[in-house]
Amino acid sequence: MIEIAGLTKSYGATTVLDGIDLSVGQAQIAAVVGPSGAGKSTLARCINLLERPTSGTIAVDGQDLTRLSRRDLRQARRQIGTVFQSANLLRRRTAAQNVALPMRHAGLSEAETRRRVGDLLERVGMRHRANHYPSQLSGGQRQRIGIARGLALDPAVLLADEATSGLDPDSTRAILDLLTELRDDLGLTVVVITHEMDVVRSIADVVAQLDHGRIVEQGAVADVVRRS
Ligand code: ADP
Ligand code: ADP
Repeated sequence: MIEIAGLTKSYGATTVLDGIDLSVGQAQIAAVVGPSGAGKSTLARCINLLERPTSGTIAVDGQDLTRLSRRDLRQARRQIGTVFQSANLLRRRTAAQNVALPMRHAGLSEAETRRRVGDLLERVGMRHRANHYPSQLSGGQRQRIGIARGLALDPAVLLADEATSGLDPDSTRAILDLLTELRDDLGLTVVVITHEMDVVRSIADVVAQLDHGRIVEQGAVADVVRRS
């Protein structure tokens, strides 16, 4: 589903990612873990196409997304939905409007947008909060809205970038359960980027441990957790 090969990112003489290989199948949850400074955010920005790698490829459904023209890039970005730390919602927009935003930018019709927003809010258990503003929601509820927005354009891959950082254990558990449900019900491929090993232990099918820009350990979660 998503296949990263030989991914390298340098800023001037500083190499931040150094030959990352990572392959995640459909309906799998992969976790990328590592300490601060390991290169996790940089990897996330490469995966959601906010940054262009220095070399290497990122293929989704067999299509390399790293060498696209500006116009094709726009289209390709739809393939990757992102959930950010603390959800990053617009404060002056309701939950429903936040979820609708990517659809509006993509030019979906009003009827289609309304239908999809309703479906997605339902799926994340937030239909009853459609017209609430972010400040009226708990951290966990905001993150549910963030996930719905991440799924707005029906991406092949959902990237969760420190999506549970800052949540209390119960809310974290609920968000992880939701991601697992999305994997099972929609066949969604999920890449979780986190510094929290517990997150990995509970939901990931595969885990890659990042350190100093390299993957130092990769495999089935039971094996990697046992060794670390
Ligand atoms: P993590 O998310 O795992 O904490 P980052 O991807 O933020 O790691 O950073 C990894 C390393 O890359 C750090 O040493 C950081 O200083 C460096 N780095 C990140 N972005 C840049 C940049 N734009 N220019 C130079 N160095 C950077
Ligand atoms: P804006 O001020 O952002 O233009 P709108 O009220 O037009 O806000 O809403 C933006 C989008 O959000 C609309 O396209 C609409 O389909 C969707 N939306 C707003 N409220 C709801 C809701 N309660 N249920 C489903 N969709 C909604």
